[in-house]
Amino acid sequence: MSTINGKEIAKNILDDVAEKVSTLACQGKAVPSVKVLLVEGDEPSLLYANQIVKKAIKVGMEAELIKYDSDFGTENLLAEVEKYNNDESVSAVMIQFPLPRSYDEDIIRHAIKKEKDIDAVGTQNAGLFYTLKPAFVPCTAESMMHLLKSHRKDLSGLNAVVLGRSHVVGRPVYELALRENMTVTICHSKTKDIREEIGRADVVFSAIGSPNFVTADMLKNGAIVIDAGINFVDGKLCGDVDYDSAFEVAEAITPVPGGVGPVTNAILIRNVYRAHMGIVSNE
Ligand code: NAP
Repeated sequence: MSTINGKEIAKNILDDVAEKVSTLACQGKAVPSVKVLLVEGDEPSLLYANQIVKKAIKVGMEAELIKYDSDFGTENLLAEVEKYNNDESVSAVMIQFPLPRSYDEDIIRHAIKKEKDIDAVGTQNAGLFYTLKPAFVPCTAESMMHLLKSHRKDLSGLNAVVLGRSHVVGRPVYELALRENMTVTICHSKTKDIREEIGRADVVFSAIGSPNFVTADMLKNGAIVIDAGINFVDGKLCGDVDYDSAFEVAEAITPVPGGVGPVTNAILIRNVYRAHMGIVSNE
């Protein structure tokens, strides 16, 4: 029955990065720099991209949002990615996805140089990650594990259930949970008895995008719940887990908003620092 406070954890990560960047600046060294590329069209994407740029600047980095018209095209965008890949003054490149339908998103995704791919959207980081080599990890997955470990250090032997099997969240969370020696089950829309799977879990990671899908009666008493869901009900943001009821039975739970989201953003900013320093590894 406690809340895992993502805002506070995010602040700690960002304070630490700000201190490190400040040390670089004091030593007269170059500070990390990130280019955020946005093809215009989607209002939430613009808000998010602006937020990332502001956060990076706040910790002392150089950050620029570069906007392109929606008809800029795959080839031109590819050339931009190549330009920043080859620019030594740029530490990290982030592209705001999804791109408009007319774009070949796969080509763009995989064009980002792995050392600058702070959100691990390309195959090179994925290949390294799943073969246990140092790699950038998709930030939401890393955020979910970071939040869990902020509450409980020793996870060995616990039963974990991951809801959702996307490449962005569910699958990398599965891999990170395995690395902690948890026994992991991954559930998706074709899972036969999801209620039973959730009921056996000491830890529930949710990333399905279905509002208040997980309710208190599904959870094992004392489960730890990490909720990445972003859903809107009557204009109000909520997670995949019915927070109010789950809070009563869970040992600990992340809220939405104020849980996975802010930590994901902080980890993304920390990755800009890591890219700059050539530290391509997760925790
Ligand atoms: P996605 O690509 O749409 O994947 C959703 C997954 O959930 C799929 O594997 C799907 O199963 C499964 N699923 C959907 N409805 C289900 C149901 N009723 N029962 C069981 N499984 C179900 O979504 P995503 O990109 O992984 O994102 C998931 C959620 O996390 C969304 O709410 C998204 O907004 C949020 N998110 C949050 C952050 C953050 O930083 N906080 C970042 C990224 C995403 P199938 O594979 O069988 O279709």
